[in-house]
Amino acid sequence: MSEKKKAVKVNAVKGMNDMLPADAGLWELVENTVQSVVKSYGYQQMRTPIVEDTGLFVRGLGEVTDIVEKEMYTFIDSLNGDSLTLRPEGTAGAVRAVIEHNLTYDSPKRLWYYGPMFRHERPQRGRYRQFYQFGLEAVGFTGPDIDAELILLCRRLWDDLGLQDVELHLNSIGDASERAEHRAALIAYFEKHQDQLDEDAKRRLYSNPLRILDTKNPHMQKLVDGAPKLLDYLKEESRAHFEGVRAILDKNAVPYIINPRLVRGMDYYNRTVFEWVTTKLGSQGTICGGGRYDPLIEMCGGKPTPACGFAMGVERIIELLKEEGADFSQAQCDVYLVHQGAEAQSEAMVLGERLRDAGLDVVLHCAGANGMGNFKAQMKRADASGAAYALILGEDEIAKGVAAVKNLRGEQGEQQQAEVALEEVVEYVVDAIISDDAHEHLHLHP
Ligand code: ATP
Ligand code: MG
Repeated sequence: MSEKKKAVKVNAVKGMNDMLPADAGLWELVENTVQSVVKSYGYQQMRTPIVEDTGLFVRGLGEVTDIVEKEMYTFIDSLNGDSLTLRPEGTAGAVRAVIEHNLTYDSPKRLWYYGPMFRHERPQRGRYRQFYQFGLEAVGFTGPDIDAELILLCRRLWDDLGLQDVELHLNSIGDASERAEHRAALIAYFEKHQDQLDEDAKRRLYSNPLRILDTKNPHMQKLVDGAPKLLDYLKEESRAHFEGVRAILDKNAVPYIINPRLVRGMDYYNRTVFEWVTTKLGSQGTICGGGRYDPLIEMCGGKPTPACGFAMGVERIIELLKEEGADFSQAQCDVYLVHQGAEAQSEAMVLGERLRDAGLDVVLHCAGANGMGNFKAQMKRADASGAAYALILGEDEIAKGVAAVKNLRGEQGEQQQAEVALEEVVEYVVDAIISDDAHEHLHLHP
């Protein structure tokens, strides 16, 4: 005898979200727009595993970083004892793959990826434990042209998405030797003001003082504003690179704010760093961040190869689109097929296939928990689907060899219904939708 188990309801893991159909239109808009923009600059897709060897992130991102210190989902593979980590970001995995497959052996590469990342942070608006990033990595390029190209690409993306309120923050953090000089000055400065440092800053004073500049603690803002600026320590080459990036941005009329405190969270960056920031999402206002990371590939065991890239947080972009009032509710289909009686149902299945052959999205009414439902119940579903037209097949229609075509989007009074011969109905509906859409597109893109 099998014992009936008590049902237990299990919820999603804290900080990890479901994407539900109500938001699908928005996600698809962002995903499709990014894909078409990156394609227009010749970037090619790559996919890497979600799980990597823990050592890859510890070495690649740097031990004294927020991510490695406290945000990684690391676990032991119980079958062989390996230490594995759910990827907290995409660059390390991309670089591993570039090295492993000799991708830049022949020529530099423009690459992009998309997928979920995992960080054990305190969940709040715009900050989740699983979140999606689009990332671009331009590998094997030395000049400021590629840094600027990545920024131009971002601008095009915000334009295509209709985002208005994003600002570009730009800085150069120079090379290792320049940072070393600045670091000494920085330590000396913070040592003089020990009493104003918070716990995080004290801990980082000697291990990673640059990161103190990135503090979000409001009590330390003044102190940090007065700190020695890395830009003042740049030598000729780094300075020229930065000037090069700025010249291209200026020529292309991209406004930016030079932010000397922008240092980015990972160890692997050098020279150009940038972030796109909005004030509309509270303290989670950075929707995209990146920069040059020339040392990383060699650090990870590859041949010295310069590179530059960025990653953007898709949830934050979607939040911002909503904040800016975008409405992307999506119709489920173009046509909803309503039918009564066995013969009509069988004709409706055939008609559905014909409509799809013609390129339309079609939902055919199927029985739910309460059966097929009467005509009125079916029409309610048709309305809720957002379809432009309902096609109605009842016993009368079948007897006459016609379908009733009802326009669901017209004004209440003018919801005309037409009777159209079954063999002509596909063409009739296609023509009607094309002429409606032509009309509607005028509304959408004036
Ligand atoms: P923050 O300073 O907000 O923690 P970060 O510097 O850690 O950001 P990056 O590692 O540069 O962020 O990641 C690039 C982008 O990914 C961020 O600008 C943001 O849009 C998004 N992002 C980062 N962490 C999260 C998260 N926990 N939840 C949602 N989006 C995130
Ligand atoms: Mg972070």
